[in-house]
Amino acid sequence: MKSICVYCGSNSGIRREYSSAARLLGVELSKEHIQLVYGGSSSGLMGQVSSEVLKNSGKVIGIIPKILLPNESPNQNLTKTIYVENMSERKETMSRLSDGFIALPGGLGTYEELFDTISWARLGIHKKPIGLLNVNQFFDPLLKMIENSCKEGFINRHSLKFLLVSENPHELIVNMKIYESSRNQIT
Ligand code: AMP
Repeated sequence: MKSICVYCGSNSGIRREYSSAARLLGVELSKEHIQLVYGGSSSGLMGQVSSEVLKNSGKVIGIIPKILLPNESPNQNLTKTIYVENMSERKETMSRLSDGFIALPGGLGTYEELFDTISWARLGIHKKPIGLLNVNQFFDPLLKMIENSCKEGFINRHSLKFLLVSENPHELIVNMKIYESSRNQIT
């Protein structure tokens, strides 16, 4: 696993644990020599995770839609910044450049990116693992919602094996690597 795309809040949330988890993920990515791909901003958890990777000599690629530039505060120190035309192109580029995805707590932007990535996986558009960093049980309501769809016959739970959950960044990355290598043995 050479590159992971992180979706997370452009705000930091009200609990200190969210920022700590973002920074811890940044440390873990750089320790594992995994490049971070993300939305390019310096704000909120996006800023925390990217700055921490850079602080630990890791590599960070930011993908910024030109349409957001007037209101954007890009992280200036990134290894590489890619400017794209629009939000769809950003999502497509983020996905193409990554071997897996991790979602940290966030808002509507994070949910939109995460659900797109999950549904692309279910459609077989990509075969990459998707990890939820479940800080402070943030994703429990979302997992309950997905579980309800399984229970009510809208999702086959066996089709969600790519979706991995942990409160611990190290454990999450290890599980994503295991998923990736078991998938490579099958295909
Ligand atoms: P949200 O969870 O609503 O704060 O949105 C954060 C997610 O959407 C991130 O993973 C970004 O890829 C994208 N995003 C939302 N707002 C921004 C912003 N101001 N700058 C860059 N990316 C953003």
